[in-house]
Amino acid sequence: MNIGLCGIGPEDARPACLAGWRFIPFRILSGAESVRYTLVSSIPSLTAMDFDAISRNRLPELLCQAPKAELHIHIEGSLEPELIFKLAQRNGVELAYPSVDALRAAYAFSDLQSFLDIYYAGASVLLQEQDFVDMAWAYFERAAVDHVVHAELFFDPQTHIARGVDIGVVIRGLHQACQRAQSELGISASLILCFLRHLSEDDALATLEAALPFCELFIGVGLDSSERGHPPEKFARVFARARELGLKLVAHAGEEGPPAYIESSLDGLKVQRIDHGVRCVESAALLKRLAAERMPLTVCPLSNIKLRVFRTMTEHSLPALLEAGLCVTINSDDPAYFGGYLNDNFIAVFDALPQLGAREAYQLLRNSFEASFVSDEAKAKWIAQLDAVFSAAS
Ligand SMILES: [Zn+2]
Repeated sequence: MNIGLCGIGPEDARPACLAGWRFIPFRILSGAESVRYTLVSSIPSLTAMDFDAISRNRLPELLCQAPKAELHIHIEGSLEPELIFKLAQRNGVELAYPSVDALRAAYAFSDLQSFLDIYYAGASVLLQEQDFVDMAWAYFERAAVDHVVHAELFFDPQTHIARGVDIGVVIRGLHQACQRAQSELGISASLILCFLRHLSEDDALATLEAALPFCELFIGVGLDSSERGHPPEKFARVFARARELGLKLVAHAGEEGPPAYIESSLDGLKVQRIDHGVRCVESAALLKRLAAERMPLTVCPLSNIKLRVFRTMTEHSLPALLEAGLCVTINSDDPAYFGGYLNDNFIAVFDALPQLGAREAYQLLRNSFEASFVSDEAKAKWIAQLDAVFSAAS
């Protein structure tokens, strides 16, 4: 919200008397040395908010009711067994599981690969445009309950193309659900096309070219699937092509793969966010760099436990990442498979990690907006809503 103009001065001389307020600087035409500051909202700085006044037992309620963005959700990973069975019936697809309960029971993975095996089996029921609408709509209805106000959805077109489903069917269906989420639930949503890293770069390049007729319907590209043995540099050409097209760039790195994969995602692929990235704690230099560059990490706590990246939540690197000043966000990854949606992830983290309090809760929620690919105005609007929730509680 623009509520007024506030002073003119050199670029590095933001009015000190208004520290804690948010401004967008813009250069005025009559003076190359001057910048006019537009006050965009009255967002208090972190230090201005009295977090100590918020007791820890109020956090679950606050975390649940606060507005938040989700930036790491694979929409195919939101397919609940009930919907898989419904779509299988509608499309005449035979499943290897006799019942919903049998399918749910098969969700006991031991590692990323065993999860991916069942993930691809679940996706086999998606054939028509309406199937993709229904899948994403089910996620949005669940996200609305968690007070998600913005979501950036990953989708895996190669999983569907390989089964003979046209990429247009996939993208149009998901886009239709995004539009409906905005109009009926007030959730802003966009799509990020992910390449499967266990396939070749040529396959990724062909997928990107096939998606170009629909490039107005997605905002960026990402890199997912099995990390081990598939370093980011394998996809340097396709990311360079996506960059030329003006798309946003993200990549999974440092989940099962080493910290070096995070570095090569930054330097080789030029990504603007790292998905997971939790193994950055193994490199002090990398930790420092990520903090200095304020590079967002989309962390998925319940996924990390389910896939045994960490043995228990108490061993999770999240507190160390926050302590180091990284722009960490909390996300659900594949919520139907990993035992929880976004609020479940927040609750599990704050339950297991007593060293995290109201300040960290606020920081994580605020980071979700700062790390999102939306305008500064949209970020300021949602951060103001977040502030209102925390201010009312303090
Ligand atoms: Zn993921």
